[in-house]
Amino acid sequence: MMEIGGLTIAAARRMLKAGSLSPVTLLDEVNGAINRVDQEVGGYLSRDYQRARAAAEHADVHLPLGGIPVAIKDAINVEGEPCSCASKILEGYTAPYDATVISKLRTAGAIPFGRTNMDEFAMGSSTENSSIQITRNPHDPERIPGGSSGGSAAVVAAGEALAALGSDTGGSIRQPAALCGCVGLKPSYGRVSRYGLVAFASSLDQIGPLTRTVEDAALVLQAIAGHDPLDSTSLDVPVPDYSAELEAGVKGMKLGVPKEYFVEGMDPDVAERVREAIDVYRDLGAEIVDVSLPHTKYAVADYYIIATAEASANLARFDGVRYGHRTVGAKDLADHYGRTRGEGFGREVKRRIILGTYVLSSGYYDAYYLRAQKVRTLIRRDFEEAFKQVDGLLSPTSPVPAFKIGERMKDPLQMYLADIFTIAVNLAGICGISVPCGTVQAEESNLPVGLQIMAPAFEESRLLRIARAFEATRLL
Ligand code: GLN
Repeated sequence: MMEIGGLTIAAARRMLKAGSLSPVTLLDEVNGAINRVDQEVGGYLSRDYQRARAAAEHADVHLPLGGIPVAIKDAINVEGEPCSCASKILEGYTAPYDATVISKLRTAGAIPFGRTNMDEFAMGSSTENSSIQITRNPHDPERIPGGSSGGSAAVVAAGEALAALGSDTGGSIRQPAALCGCVGLKPSYGRVSRYGLVAFASSLDQIGPLTRTVEDAALVLQAIAGHDPLDSTSLDVPVPDYSAELEAGVKGMKLGVPKEYFVEGMDPDVAERVREAIDVYRDLGAEIVDVSLPHTKYAVADYYIIATAEASANLARFDGVRYGHRTVGAKDLADHYGRTRGEGFGREVKRRIILGTYVLSSGYYDAYYLRAQKVRTLIRRDFEEAFKQVDGLLSPTSPVPAFKIGERMKDPLQMYLADIFTIAVNLAGICGISVPCGTVQAEESNLPVGLQIMAPAFEESRLLRIARAFEATRLL
């Protein structure tokens, strides 16, 4: 039997093209791995084997991702499949169309296979806000996989998928990738179409890959990137060949280390692993420069005004009239809305809708929302200034390794701080990636640590190249 646990897309492609592996066998191996381990991990919400099997039978292995199954976060519409966003309000809903990233994956020959668990409507950092099930970190089943794309990260880490799509509004691809020990890439705002992604905060959301390697991240990004007339925020700029410069190294590059990204209270061993990774870059011939992003301290607060404001507007569509959960026996329309939404949304989603409605309300709009937009500009300018001096930035992805299930659920603020290093990237619209950079010991477990690399908007080629240079020193 083949071991799919360590198989990369790149390796599978070679075998598929050589004829030593068939798409059906590959799918069956993935399906078998899910049957063996997902009971414990809880990463998948559902999967349609028959449909994937039919696609595998006709897969063209000469296409860029021909015959490669890809797990999909439950916030991305796949025609004919459930898309619940792990919320009761979308129970029973079936997607009537493919998101653009899904049509693009299909065009590249990939097979969407399986829906992965997430925090309800992508709000959270641990996947504990899923109203459907708990997902466990494959490195320690007592711990969270990160979030909100925790299912996607866990299934890649547990060897039940070669790759997955996630979405990242404030860290939801990079943070779970870091905590599960895989690679997670958040593309620049406008690089990938959001059409068919259930909107959380439209000015921040981006779809991106979770994979085992940087090379695989490049392959998936290649397939999903590009302008889409159906998403007016996707930019009409050419998509470069993301694999072309992967091995070009970092010799002569200037890489910045923002001093605000090593904070008090962060896990000292995590900081140590990241410092070691920075030393690796120095050894590889990069010049390491200290930089400052002075407005970083406002990023979390800023995000929780902008993201909740946008969420309160975006989630207004879930009213039980056209689709999704509908209450029974409502007296009138207001009662219908109140009860439907009261029953359908979980605690965290309600908290965000209430907060977002408040910051947009007349009298508070200027004090909170408008102000937050100005602070966002300051945060973006910090990065613009830094990128005048350096080619990329290095930092931890998360201040702590995976925490215990239940540990932070009573304290939303603690949960919000999980994204302290990832959120500014979304506010600035730039691109970021998390790559594994070792482990830390916690009780009986070895928990993965992620190194975050950041690059200017639409410089994913450079981002991947920097990431690959480090990874190449690890995967020998
Ligand atoms: N954890 C952050 C939040 O709860 C980010 C989530 C995300 O990126 N979708 O909003």
